[in-house]
Amino acid sequence: MSRSCERPRHAVPPFAPDWALFLDIDGTLLPIEDHPDQVQVPPAARALIQRLDRALGGALALISGRALADIDRLFGAGRPAAGQHGAERRDARGGVHQVQREDLHHRTIQRRLAEFVAAHPGTLLEDKGMSLALHYRRVPELADEVRRFVCTLEHSLPAGFHVVPGKMVYEFRAEDYDKGRAVLEFMNEPPFAGRVPVVIGDDVTDEDAFRVVNRLGGHSIKVGEGDSCARWRLDSPAAVLAWLGDYAAWLEAAGKNGHE
Ligand SMILES: [Mg+2]
Repeated sequence: MSRSCERPRHAVPPFAPDWALFLDIDGTLLPIEDHPDQVQVPPAARALIQRLDRALGGALALISGRALADIDRLFGAGRPAAGQHGAERRDARGGVHQVQREDLHHRTIQRRLAEFVAAHPGTLLEDKGMSLALHYRRVPELADEVRRFVCTLEHSLPAGFHVVPGKMVYEFRAEDYDKGRAVLEFMNEPPFAGRVPVVIGDDVTDEDAFRVVNRLGGHSIKVGEGDSCARWRLDSPAAVLAWLGDYAAWLEAAGKNGHE
């Protein structure tokens, strides 16, 4: 953790009409479930994202560790989004950008993880295509054993791969992309360019995006407890949805009154 990071305040920035929203999904918009496939999007949450998207002229992107196809399944296809922490990204015009995958390395790590998961019931391997995730949420008592295995594996990873710890999960991915880079790429394109970036996230991988928006003069908002580079904080996904609901209403009222 960088010394330049301070503990975020339990507060949120005052609304402004010119934000570009970058929203993590699990643990931010939706509660975390035991298995990523168990997550359901309440219709109200989906409707809220559509309202915000409209009110911001399309300057809203979902930024997740999930694969792009999985984000589409949850929130509907076609919107700007970055999947697998930025390994794949759909811009506002619908163009999809993907990092090059190292097939041999991916398969090697996949095999090692699959062997571990086969020997440790309750753990789960998720192959997202460009990245791999080892989940142990269902068997928290194995946390030490999982950590020891991941440490050993980390030392034998090929150059260009690294491990990112998350909440009851370890992600294995190439080093040359992260959520911060995804935010930067969106901010260079319409309709995001020229707006103030606002990132909301709950986990370690969101810190890269927090640092980027802090540098750009935007707003970084951490969900839940824990140290963070974010400048602001909200307590839970429910608090995020309530606050975003207020923001949507504020934008719509501002639009009606001609203040935008
Ligand atoms: Mg998250």
